[in-house]
Formats: sequence, C-alpha cells, structure tokens
Amino acid sequence: MKINLKELEGQPEQKQDFYFDEIIDELENKKPVKGKVSAQLTEYGVLVQGEVDTKLNLICDRCLDFFEYNINVSFLEKFVKKDLDIPQSQTECELSEEDLVEDLQGREEINVTDLIYQNIIINVPGKNLCDTNCKGTEALQDLNKKDEIDPRLEIFKKLSDKMDDDKSN
Ligand SMILES: [Zn+2]
Repeated sequence: MKINLKELEGQPEQKQDFYFDEIIDELENKKPVKGKVSAQLTEYGVLVQGEVDTKLNLICDRCLDFFEYNINVSFLEKFVKKDLDIPQSQTECELSEEDLVEDLQGREEINVTDLIYQNIIINVPGKNLCDTNCKGTEALQDLNKKDEIDPRLEIFKKLSDKMDDDKSN
C-alpha cells in the first residue's frame, strides 16, 4: 500500500485513515498483516502511525521446529520534506532526536507496506521458544539427562552453549 501525498493534501484536515490488510511476501508467513494506519500532513512533512498484527513462522531455538508467533507492532514515523520552505527552528521543535525521521527526497508517495515490514522485522525477538517449557531436541534432552556426556554428543553441547553465548551478547 502506498500513500499518495497529493491525495493526502486533498483530504479533510489533510488526514487519511486506512485499514491495512496485506500479505507481505518477504515475511514468508503467508498470513495477512492487519491493522489501522493513519497518515497526517504536518508542518514538516508527513506523520504515519498505526498498529498492526500478524502471525509469523519462527524457528524455536531449542527444538528447531517452526512455531506460530503472534506479533503486534505499533509505529510512528515522520517523513520530512526538506524542500518545504520552513524555518529550521520550527522543524527542530517538532522533530526530536529520538524520532524516526526519513527524508522524502522529493518523493510523492510513501510505501506503507515497506514501512510496516521494517517495523515488524525490528520487533522480532532475538530469542525464540515455541513454549517456555520446550524440552528441546532429543539430542539436547539426552545431554541434560546424562551426567556423563557421550563424547560423540559433547560437540553438540558445546555448539549449543556457544549459540546461547552468541545470542546473549
Ligand atoms: Zn521448541
């Protein structure tokens, strides 16, 4: 979905509300991402905000199986029109450092699908478990049971410890 800035200008209060309902191929979940999105023309450019949810197919870190993960993402993003004739001081007071700001660079459209995709990706947790009680793969279960480690399995234990270390860094 794209927001056309010319169309937005013609709206009452220069604001548009959408219902977003799209399958984003890059997420590889074959499920629609749904939610409300609103776009508002502002002094500095465009403010796009919304909240969407979808189900992702993630891989469990312990058992390495796919599982369905519900993700809900709220976002607020400001797009700046640098070519607008606004005094610098005015833009600065509206835009704070923490804001996600993107320069429109003369573009007349905002790609909302891409914006939502980016926001989902940055909100996917780094550690994934299909269930807090997930017992893990059979090899790992065996390792946890045994006090004496089978030397053939030791390499896997080291690998999984290393993976855990890498992730916690
Ligand atoms: Zn699992």
